[in-house]
Amino acid sequence: MGIPLLDLKAQYVSLKDELDAVWSEVMSGAGFIGGPKVRALEEAIAGYCGTQYAVACGNGTDALFLILAAMGIGKGDEVITTPFTFFATVEAIAHLGATPVFVDIEPGTYNLDVGKLEVAITGATKAILPVHIFGQCVDMDPLLAIAKSHGLRVVEDACQAIGATYKGRCAGSLADAAAFSFFPSKNLGCAGDGGCITTDDEGLALKARKLAAHGTTKKYFHDTFGANSRLDALQAAILLAKLPHLDEWNGQRRAAAAVYDQLLAGVAGLSLPEVRPYGEPVYHLYVVKSEKAENVMAALSAAGIGTALYYPLALHEQEVFTKQPGYVAPSLPVAESCDARTFALPCFPGITREQIECVAGVVKEAMAS
Ligand SMILES: *Cc1c(COP(=O)(O)O)cnc(C)c1O
Repeated sequence: MGIPLLDLKAQYVSLKDELDAVWSEVMSGAGFIGGPKVRALEEAIAGYCGTQYAVACGNGTDALFLILAAMGIGKGDEVITTPFTFFATVEAIAHLGATPVFVDIEPGTYNLDVGKLEVAITGATKAILPVHIFGQCVDMDPLLAIAKSHGLRVVEDACQAIGATYKGRCAGSLADAAAFSFFPSKNLGCAGDGGCITTDDEGLALKARKLAAHGTTKKYFHDTFGANSRLDALQAAILLAKLPHLDEWNGQRRAAAAVYDQLLAGVAGLSLPEVRPYGEPVYHLYVVKSEKAENVMAALSAAGIGTALYYPLALHEQEVFTKQPGYVAPSLPVAESCDARTFALPCFPGITREQIECVAGVVKEAMAS
């Protein structure tokens, strides 16, 4: 019996009639780019996150890029971020000509260690880009206090954290602006690529919207260079149909995580994800850490159970940086200690207790051998 890392087919089957109906509605209307579905989704996302504005765009990477561009970040600027994230976070910074500056993470949550943030600030620092990794919010209050005292902008990479809370507020509403991804495997995923920006800053929302549309607000008249980053109506329609189920799905992920926590507690040499008391995570991934990762993953694969390293190599050690002449990799021991040791166990909405017991059994046996 196989257990996938994520079961998207089951999710489709559970909503098939509704999704097929909205899909055919958009096809019949033949309005594919922008339009009322996209506007409705923007309103729904802003409402869900508790922000004034939401701007849909092509994907999560673009959402980050458009926010930083709208903030005027570019050549010579430094943006502080985490080395333990999907590569897109730093790509957005690098494509603007700015320099990512890496600060180490906390063991346990794998989130940026806010206690190590302030020493990384220089005269060139313009922004801080925390990533709510695996669906748990970064400790934002102390981070925002540091940003404020140095006059820095703060952008949340909330791509893995839609629905997560911090002191009762939603990820995406905690800083100057936030980026979401609707990539199919995210907690709220569409049937292709999609993304969104949330913010309370009207000027930033307008600028980002303009940049996403070739830098124009008046068709065929341009006063700046932008990009082509649109969400199409089919994706918006699917996301509108799925959004009302998101809290329930996130609840099921939390319930699955709680079962793993219980079944795997006390296994020697295996670190379970730590949850901070300031908020509720949404377990985009349930990631454990062990020196025996390779053996445990092999045992899981042999049993037909999906697993993968998140992430196999920290970003400050990636070739794209190390091959640059004069690059001196910072020493970030906690992030480096995760290389090839942190891996995900199946934790998706609808996973059954039996499936979780099966996964935990294989993990325990492999850890003991
Ligand atoms: C998925 C993801 C992105 C990029 O989103 P895309 O929609 O794939 O461009 C950025 N940051 C993080 C942390 C992500 O998980």
